[in-house]
Amino acid sequence: MLFFNLHTHSFTNQSTVIELVNQYPWEFNEILPVYSIGIHPWYINEQRLTADLAFIKIKLQDTNCLALGECGLDKKIDIAMPIQEDVFEKQLLLAQEYNKPVVLHCVAAYDELIAIKNRLKITVPIIIHGFSKSEQLAKQLINNDFYLSFGKHLLRNPGLEKVFLSVPNDRIFLETDTSTENIQEVYAMAAKYYSCTIEEMQQLTSNNFELVFKTSLSRI
Ligand SMILES: [Zn+2]
Repeated sequence: MLFFNLHTHSFTNQSTVIELVNQYPWEFNEILPVYSIGIHPWYINEQRLTADLAFIKIKLQDTNCLALGECGLDKKIDIAMPIQEDVFEKQLLLAQEYNKPVVLHCVAAYDELIAIKNRLKITVPIIIHGFSKSEQLAKQLINNDFYLSFGKHLLRNPGLEKVFLSVPNDRIFLETDTSTENIQEVYAMAAKYYSCTIEEMQQLTSNNFELVFKTSLSRI
């Protein structure tokens, strides 16, 4: 069985791990087996925006590019929300056009996120990475067809167990993002919370991978 890591910034090259490695259009690495590509709200640069979006558009047609992202909205940074929303909407429309799921970064902008998804009628799966918020917000996001990915906060915040267990198991992914812990540790914690084996946890995320990415992990 394989460990699927929904979102990471470093490729660890382990035979038992499939990692969706985050890439930026301005520093693209050709050798990664599978990746996502997008403009993170922290790194929006209006001077190169047209070129970045054009590069993303080309890569979305590459079979090794499994998703668009991370992209999203972040209310705790200095970049004005109208600019962030514009860049985010352009990327969502590209994901929809090329039929790729979206890996999403969202900080304090969940209402805006839900409104944009519904206004643009986005139907490709959107996975909110690094989820660490309340059961109530999780429920609202699930009701709006989002998927939730859990990582370092699951390891560090015991209060998240209840939220994690409240999410339907066909909407869950696991990840490491930039944390120092490895994906095996995240699976071990998730299995502990579910009272299941690591293999059962691997089966669960493998099933969800097939649902969202329309291919099986063994074919990667
Ligand atoms: Zn990240």
